[in-house]
Amino acid sequence: MNLAKLNRDLARRFGGRVRASLEDGCVVMRGELSDWAEVVEACQRAAEKNSRRHVVNDITYTGPADLPMRVPSETDASLEGDAPDVLVIGGGISGASIARELTKWKLDVLLVEKEADLALGASGRNDGEVHPGVDLGKGSLKHKYVRAGNRMYDRVCADLGVEFRRVGQYACFTDPLLRPVIGAFAFLRKYKDGIEDTKIVSGKEMRRLEPNLTKDCRFAIYNPSAGCVCPYSLTIAYAENAVMNGARVSLNTAVLDMAVENGRIVRVKTNRGTLHPRLVINAAGVFAEEIAKMAGDRFYSIHPRRGTNSILDVKAGAYMHTIASVKDIHIHGKNHSKGGGILHTVHDNLLIGPDAVETCEKENYATAPGSIDTVFGKQTQTMPKLSRGDIITYFTGVRAATFEEDYIIEPGRRTKNLIHCAGIQSPGLTTAPAVALDVAETAVEMLGGAQKNPDFNPVRKPIPAVKKLSDAARDALIKENPDYGEIVCRCEEISKGEILDALRSPICVPTLDGIKKRVRPGMGRCQGGFCSPLVTKIIAEYRNVPLSDVRKSDARAVVLFGKTK
Ligand SMILES: Cc1cc2nc3c(=O)[nH]c(=O)nc-3n(C[C@H](O)[C@H](O)[C@H](O)COP(=O)(O)OP(=O)(O)OC[C@H]3O[C@@H](n4cnc5c(N)ncnc54)[C@H](O)[C@@H]3O)c2cc1C
Repeated sequence: MNLAKLNRDLARRFGGRVRASLEDGCVVMRGELSDWAEVVEACQRAAEKNSRRHVVNDITYTGPADLPMRVPSETDASLEGDAPDVLVIGGGISGASIARELTKWKLDVLLVEKEADLALGASGRNDGEVHPGVDLGKGSLKHKYVRAGNRMYDRVCADLGVEFRRVGQYACFTDPLLRPVIGAFAFLRKYKDGIEDTKIVSGKEMRRLEPNLTKDCRFAIYNPSAGCVCPYSLTIAYAENAVMNGARVSLNTAVLDMAVENGRIVRVKTNRGTLHPRLVINAAGVFAEEIAKMAGDRFYSIHPRRGTNSILDVKAGAYMHTIASVKDIHIHGKNHSKGGGILHTVHDNLLIGPDAVETCEKENYATAPGSIDTVFGKQTQTMPKLSRGDIITYFTGVRAATFEEDYIIEPGRRTKNLIHCAGIQSPGLTTAPAVALDVAETAVEMLGGAQKNPDFNPVRKPIPAVKKLSDAARDALIKENPDYGEIVCRCEEISKGEILDALRSPICVPTLDGIKKRVRPGMGRCQGGFCSPLVTKIIAEYRNVPLSDVRKSDARAVVLFGKTK
């Protein structure tokens, strides 16, 4: 690494407004910039020129500031003095899968999540693609875990009762001249990266199976091992299985500060009291850097990157049954994103997106119309039949990227009882099962060993999806319990029985959104217009509280203010 060369480069580009220095093995960026795109560019330049060192962003950004981290409104002492063996910070797919793996040992595991439910960060706002792992830099942690994670999906989803479909993925190319280069690339991936089933297919061959994909496609890389899963269902399932096996999950619980003595975290302050964990696992997504800072172990920086998806009605789901995108070089460009695509979801909708936009805002999930334009503009090239009229909703997620564009999965460098699971951007959903195995093993080692949990049960029984049952099975279920015959959400055909099951589940979140995430009332074409009042009533009756006590998402999100008639 040549620091002088990097500083010359930065001086040429930014006119002396930023400088790099080498501190504690990291490249620390300092200076002052008013444009966030410039902050990102400066740090990315530093990362590109110092591929083996982490980049820490200490540039003063004078543009519009991000809001402070959202914290729960609740405060109590319910966790005061609690001393778990392992404290997992973050209830996304990383934290939930790690917590579940840890329950294979006799350990007291506590997972804290600042939001009112699990999977409210990136883990509930992504495409749900289980990537085949074709486009990841060799030697990166993403590359290390992606194949292992992909292979684990069949077993994990079967155990956790979560639907997973290996639908396959087409990366389409319209320029026939690219075929020899792409063919060589696919060959290399097949034999060097172990993506055994990858192959080149002609445009015609692809359209025989997917007739609505673009006629301009001359050839495609086909990856049969790509799959799709519902990302928030999987996160919830992991966490529920962890609870079934003895872990504790505390929602609405934010880590606010830490005290470190002699290189060890001795106190963790939350809005529910002060904890004294033996080991802390930092799986806090876009806030992993803040947690690292609290723990006196900040050696990387996170720069949030927004991505927006549109969800199309199940009617459009019939247009194609796999995952596809046009990958021509002039469309894809160099933007640290896999370029998005079209995905047939496990719920039979089509998902279109995402784009990739750098932002300083970690929790701004607002959707910009421009993002939908970009994504539609790009993906109508993949499937001209796409229509905006089929959009039933859209959502935005924020990726937690490091400037090196790789994960950080390692014990603390200065703080001894800490493990970072940070920078988990895409394909973090795919890699989670494999990452969780490694993190849990490292945790046990760092704790000096632990006894295996002989009672560990990997199996979680799912709530029956009445809509998907055969007539005979549905009949039998309704005879046993007539609540399964009372349809509450007509779009998604969700029964009262399923909603009551969700209310009785191991991590009960008795809000409209909590129920929606678990059994889907409100996920269909009308987006809850018809069923929300009925679901509100079922929740109120189950909890034996007035209707006005039921919330949409968290304590602040009131649904009904009072009686009108
Ligand atoms: C638009 C988009 C599309 C994507 N598509 C795919 C895909 O198709 N396939 C794929 O494999 N990956 C995909 N990804 C990446 C994937 O979503 C992420 O890698 C993964 O969800 C990261 O999970 P996580 O648990 O590390 O982080 P998160 O899900 O963000 O979880 C972190 C949690 O920590 C909590 N937290 C933060 N600070 C605190 C605190 N102080 N106290 C308590 N709790 C705290 C947060 O509230 C949050 O719930 C996509 C990401 C985005 C944004």
